[in-house]
Amino acid sequence: MKLAIREIRAGLRSGQFSARELASRALAHAGAENPKTNAYLHLTPERALAAADAVDAQLARGEDPGPLAGVPIAVKDVILTKDIRTTCGSRLLEHYVAPYDATAIMRVEQAGAVIVGKTNCDEFAMGSSNENSAFGPVRNPVDLERVPGGSSGGSAAVVAQGTAVVSLGSDTGGSIRQPASFCGIVGVTPTYGRVSRYGLTAFASSLDHIGPFGGSVHDAAAVLEAIAGRDPMDATSAFAPVPSYTAGLTGDVRGMRIGLPKEYFAGLASETGDLIARGVDTLRRLGCEVHEVSLPHTEYAIPCYYVICTAEASSNLARYDGVRYTSRSANGETLIDMYRNTRGEGFGAECKRRIMLGTYVLSAGYYDAYYIKAQRVRTLIARDFSNAFQQVDAIIAPVSPFPAFKLGEKLDDPMQMYLSDIYTITGSLAGIPCMSVPCGATAAGLPVGMQILCNHFEEAAMFRLAHAFENSGDT
Ligand code: GLN
Repeated sequence: MKLAIREIRAGLRSGQFSARELASRALAHAGAENPKTNAYLHLTPERALAAADAVDAQLARGEDPGPLAGVPIAVKDVILTKDIRTTCGSRLLEHYVAPYDATAIMRVEQAGAVIVGKTNCDEFAMGSSNENSAFGPVRNPVDLERVPGGSSGGSAAVVAQGTAVVSLGSDTGGSIRQPASFCGIVGVTPTYGRVSRYGLTAFASSLDHIGPFGGSVHDAAAVLEAIAGRDPMDATSAFAPVPSYTAGLTGDVRGMRIGLPKEYFAGLASETGDLIARGVDTLRRLGCEVHEVSLPHTEYAIPCYYVICTAEASSNLARYDGVRYTSRSANGETLIDMYRNTRGEGFGAECKRRIMLGTYVLSAGYYDAYYIKAQRVRTLIARDFSNAFQQVDAIIAPVSPFPAFKLGEKLDDPMQMYLSDIYTITGSLAGIPCMSVPCGATAAGLPVGMQILCNHFEEAAMFRLAHAFENSGDT
């Protein structure tokens, strides 16, 4: 079901289909495809049909059912849904049912969207391949032998396979952009604070974002428009007004100044590099001015990110102790045994690795040397971007050094997996909006995404550029 949001709107209005028919079709399609990809952890038929019926009733009364009316949407299983399981891809939360909805969930439903299911992901969103899920990996619908990327691999796969029209993911260091690139769709990480984190299970709170996936720039922009904006339930959510991102998709990007960070392109002699270079040529042809910029602290980004995110994760994951939220180990005599066994049996290897690393960098004696140092480096990285945005309106970069890799290929080497995040974590550390837009495929047919990064709250410009690129006829 590769319908766009606009087509759904037209189809509902003309009576070509009802929201209930659309939801039933999406659910059946998802059920049939899932054995191939394992992209959904669970479908949500009751909630979907109730939402669809509400849309149909509004249409029957002649009311406007909202900008996302009847649109089948899937949600990464780290975002809380009332009365529906939210597992975070973890054995520990296999049976956890949240007592409330995340703000983003309430907002998409208010806009008329129909939630069809919860999607598979790396455990607590830690990973780049979706292989860290306790419920098995997701397979990339483009090539079932390959990973869909991670950690929001399920949310990318369902849009790529057409079982949902759009989806929500979360991005801490690239988990929306990288799977979007691997699956050949659009994925957006908004400015930090643009979308409320209320109801998003915390991994690294100063880096966590909720953002949309879509089959087109328009669809992703429409979802962000619905979920963005101040939320009194999240003190870090921004007051900045939300413009209409879809109305800004004019196709005109003449005179826009594009920056190419020299540090990113130095070692990128690959098919990915060639495709990005071709994408830059397209932007030039569309009337953009291209300049070289410098982000001199890029080489420190990976260690900086993995100190900060593990520190925050070790603190955030302390709450899963067998007393609250989680299932409890049956083994152990004492309270301490119960904590140890619950966490020892419940967390997968990657979460344990990060809890240990994070605890270490926060411990007395190391806190200044690692954690405080990393925070300082983070400021320098953010400053690199502010300086670059004095000269240009947008930065173009790769999303990943390579396209989707084979399942199992990098599983035994966490360092290799961490290094693959180089192009996405810099934007995350700076808190700026960034997105992946498809820019062609390798000779083997594997999709490659081009990353667009803009200054804080400049999502409208980012979408305008991505949309003009998408419609250039070159990709
Ligand atoms: N791959 C990165 C990590 O493992 C990013 C994860 C994310 O953005 N949630 O930390």
